[in-house]
Amino acid sequence: MRIRILGSGAGGGVPQWNCGCANCRAVRAGSPAIRTRTQDSIAVSAERGGWVLCNASPDIRQQIESFAELHPQESRHSPIAAIVLTNGDLDHVLGLFSLRESYPLVIYCTEAVWRGLVDHNALMRTLRRFEGQVSWRPLVPGVETSVADLRNQPTGLFVTARAVKGKIPVHLEGVVDNSPDQNVGLWLREAQGRSAAYVSAVASLDDVIPHGKALDALLLDGTFWSSDELSRPGLSKSKAEDMAHLPIGDPGGTLAQSAHLTARRRIYTHINNTNPILVEGSPERQAVEAAGWQIAWDGMDLVIPEATPT
Ligand SMILES: [Zn+2]
Ligand SMILES: [Zn+2]
Repeated sequence: MRIRILGSGAGGGVPQWNCGCANCRAVRAGSPAIRTRTQDSIAVSAERGGWVLCNASPDIRQQIESFAELHPQESRHSPIAAIVLTNGDLDHVLGLFSLRESYPLVIYCTEAVWRGLVDHNALMRTLRRFEGQVSWRPLVPGVETSVADLRNQPTGLFVTARAVKGKIPVHLEGVVDNSPDQNVGLWLREAQGRSAAYVSAVASLDDVIPHGKALDALLLDGTFWSSDELSRPGLSKSKAEDMAHLPIGDPGGTLAQSAHLTARRRIYTHINNTNPILVEGSPERQAVEAAGWQIAWDGMDLVIPEATPT
């Protein structure tokens, strides 16, 4: 299995258009200690080839162009076999509307995420210009699904969505009730047994730790270092928990729980532009690296080798 980090930033990216925090300013000033990051998305390929996108970020056009494996090989073509969504947050779905140029799309997501996308949404009509422009295939939490392309050819990738503690998208607050399948993590597996999990938004590790033992790689929500990261400097009234992101560095945060996350590789992604782990050499960066974590960056490639035959 190969995983390409297309975007390692949280909503807004790094730098964020209306943000003048120290990190965003440092990126704009060209500091070598911090990188530009686009919004959260990965591409995964299994042994049979083709690419499966997990989340469709607002930066999808730039992300596709930045990775030659995703370029078309014919006059109308895409190596993207299917798109899997973890929730309906706009930083994870807006990219779908950038793929509107009359090409059939296969989308895997839970029913709650699908309903949030299509109900009362006039923009969806741009993806329904012809019969079959969008094919939805439901992900049922806890049930493993073989991901197949438009012609139902298996990609070799199997995905299990697991409900993890989250929230409904901001634009659906007060419109629909929250439900466990509004926010899922994706457990990805190849037929040869190697596996990874992609949990880019999670408010508690209770539903992650029990399924984390045999993983070759865990890509985990690294949005915030601390609960008051936005509220303390007056950037927002919201705390990390209001946005359903368990912070990294607070007591009880994901770093303190590292010992329970025994994946061979542990990687923080979906990192907000305010997070001090983005700065190379910062004490927070050193603390996570000392605990064995890596920090995702746009263009990072994870090659997870096949299991050695026994
Ligand atoms: Zn997000
Ligand atoms: Zn910023």
